[in-house]
Amino acid sequence: MNYWKKCSVCKNEVQFNKTYWSCSVSSCNKKSNPLIFCSLTCFDSHVPVMSHRDAGAFENKAPSKIEFEKKQSNPAYKPTIPIDQEILVVASKVKEYIKNRSDMNTSQDVIEVLSQHVRQWLKHAIERAKHAGRKTILDRDI
Ligand SMILES: [Zn+2]
Ligand SMILES: [Zn+2]
Repeated sequence: MNYWKKCSVCKNEVQFNKTYWSCSVSSCNKKSNPLIFCSLTCFDSHVPVMSHRDAGAFENKAPSKIEFEKKQSNPAYKPTIPIDQEILVVASKVKEYIKNRSDMNTSQDVIEVLSQHVRQWLKHAIERAKHAGRKTILDRDI
């Protein structure tokens, strides 16, 4: 196989190591079968279909062919987590906050989605700081 997965909308092939887009809505991001989009155009076209209100697109990177094949042959294989998938929020604190406020539990997916949101904010902040010719991200960049 010479591609990673097919776009959930147009069925075009998403190549290994290439950028793809995912949806911020958790029902589109099920671990077993997440929707993936080859372009923002494909992402946009699924939003009305799924009648999302606040859907956001997240930029992701497809795994390399080697990592993908290792995972196929050995499901327990854990690739090193790419920087764009790392957890950036303190899961225990988030869970504790929700528990204290509402007595509700928090699914692990929430932590991942929150991290994606944080990543998007930081990417924007980096761009703003770059434009301003700064080497430090300031509170006002966020
Ligand atoms: Zn597509
Ligand atoms: Zn969606």
